[in-house]
Amino acid sequence: MKKLELHWRILIGMVLGLLFGYAMTQVFWGADFVKDWIKPLGSIFIKLLKLIAIPLILASLIKGISDLKDISKFKQIGLRTIVIYIITTVVAISIGLLIVNITNPGDGISKETITRLTETYANDSGVQAKIAEATKQQSSGPLQFLEDMVPDNAFAALSNNKMMLQVIFFAIFLGISMLLIGEKKAKPLKDFFDSINEVVLKMVDLIMLTAPVAVFALLANVVVSSNDPDLLLALLKYVGVVVTGLLLMIVFYLFLVSVYTKKNPFWFLKQISPAQLLAFSTSSSAATLPVTMERVEEHIGVDKEVSSFVLPVGATINMDGTSLYQAVAAVFIAQALSFDLTFADQLTIVLTALLASIGSAAVPGAGMVMLVIVLESIGFPAEKLAIGLALIFAVDRPLDMCRTVVNVTGDATVSMLVAKSVGKLHKPQPKEWDDHLEEVI
Ligand code: ASP
Repeated sequence: MKKLELHWRILIGMVLGLLFGYAMTQVFWGADFVKDWIKPLGSIFIKLLKLIAIPLILASLIKGISDLKDISKFKQIGLRTIVIYIITTVVAISIGLLIVNITNPGDGISKETITRLTETYANDSGVQAKIAEATKQQSSGPLQFLEDMVPDNAFAALSNNKMMLQVIFFAIFLGISMLLIGEKKAKPLKDFFDSINEVVLKMVDLIMLTAPVAVFALLANVVVSSNDPDLLLALLKYVGVVVTGLLLMIVFYLFLVSVYTKKNPFWFLKQISPAQLLAFSTSSSAATLPVTMERVEEHIGVDKEVSSFVLPVGATINMDGTSLYQAVAAVFIAQALSFDLTFADQLTIVLTALLASIGSAAVPGAGMVMLVIVLESIGFPAEKLAIGLALIFAVDRPLDMCRTVVNVTGDATVSMLVAKSVGKLHKPQPKEWDDHLEEVI
C-alpha cells in the first residue's frame, strides 16, 4: 500500500488534535489532562528540533561556504538575500497597511468590548511581560545588534539557541578561512562537517516520523489553553484583516516563484507544506528551521551553498508575516482607541515594523513584544500601551500560528529566488529516513 504523504499525515494529526482539544474543553478535568499527559509529547518534539538546529546550521553553513569555488559568490548570495528580504518585508507591511486602512477594523469595536478586554487583559502577566521585554530591548544603542552578532566565545554561542546570528557569524568566518587555506589542507575538516550535515539531516527525517503525533499534542494544548470564544468573536474583523493580508502574502510568494523560477507554485507549496504545518503548530520559525532546511534542500532542490545561509538568516531576521501583523495591529489599536494617525505616522510604521521584524526572535509571541516598539514610535501614549495590547492579546496565539507560516514560506521563497539567480536551483533529490535501513538490520 502506498504510504500516505507526510503533509497528509501531519494534517490529520492537526485536525484530530483540534477535535480532541475541543472535546477536552467539555469536561472539567480535560484541560489538566491535556497539560499533564498530552502536551509533553509536543514539547519533546520541539526540543528535538531545537536540539539539532545549531549543529545543522553550523555544519551546513560551513559545508556550503567551503564548497564555493570563490568568495565573491558568497558576497553575491549575501547581498541578494538581504536586499530581497528587505523588499518582501516592505511589501508585507504595505499590504497590511493598505487593507487595514481600507477596512478600518478598529472603528467598529464597541466601548463595552474595549472595557471588557481591558479588564480581562491589561494587567495580565502576559501583557505586562511583553511591555517589560520591549523596554529592555529598547534601551540598547543603534549598533548594538552588530555588536551582539559577534561572539566572544564560540562555545558559549554554540550552546545557546538564542544566539543564532552568532553561530552564523562563526560558521561564515570559519568557512571563509577554510577556503583561504586551500582545498588540500581544509579537506579533513570539510569531510567532518559534510558528514555531520548528512547525519543531522537524517535526524530531521527521524524526528519528522513523530510529527503527526506531536502536532496532535500541540494543537490539543492550544485549544484547551485558548481564551473566551466570545472575545474571539468580537475581534473577528481584526483577525479577518490579518489573515487576509497573510494570504495575500502567500499569493505574492507563489507569484514570485512561478514568474522568476518558472516552477509550478502548487508544486512548491506541496514540497514546503510539512514545514508550513509545523510552523503553524509550533508558532516558532526557529523550531521549524531544521525542517525548512531539509525540505528546501532535498525536496525543492536549492543548493546548500544558498540554503545554508539564506534560511538560518531568514529565520532570524526575515519575518514578513510578523511585520504585516505589526502594521495591522498598530493601526487597529490606534483606531479602536481613537488615536489619530497621520500619513507620516504610517510611514513610520513601515520603517519601525521593518526593523522590529528583524529584531523579533523566532519564537512564539515575539511579534507582540516588538509591536510595543512600533506603537511607541508613532507617539502612542505609554500609559495606554497595556490597554492597546489587551485589545489584541486574546487572539495573539492563533494569529502567531498563521504569521509564522508566512515567515517560513517567505524564507523558503527567497532561498529559491536567490538560488535561481546564481544558477543553484537543481533537480530535487529527496532522501527517505529508511534509505539504508536494510544495511543495518
Ligand atoms: N512566532 C513568530 C516566529 O517564530 C514570531 C512572531 O511573530 O511572534 O516566526
